[in-house]
Amino acid sequence: MSDAICHQCGKPLPATARRHARFCSPAHRAAHHRSSIAHTLPRVQFLTGAGRDNPATMAPYVAIVPETAFPGMYRLKRTDGSLSDMVNLPRARDALTEARRRP
Ligand SMILES: [Zn+2]
Repeated sequence: MSDAICHQCGKPLPATARRHARFCSPAHRAAHHRSSIAHTLPRVQFLTGAGRDNPATMAPYVAIVPETAFPGMYRLKRTDGSLSDMVNLPRARDALTEARRRP
């Protein structure tokens, strides 16, 4: 065996591994598979529990995006890609300015 290391963690495979084994454990095989298909999964995130509607734990605003269904209305985009509730432009600018003022 030339590359007898786990493709997930890089540690040597156990002596009992199959000849063509690529991972040291089923958990690392699954983790490697999850990371390999991560780009095909939807990026939608649902905020649940403590984070939901709690500004202190939500990602900061980074941009103003126009609401396509309602011309003249806007939403604020967060660093995690989620969007705020719909607001008018002055309120969106205020919120973004406030978000940038905070450390
Ligand atoms: Zn491993």
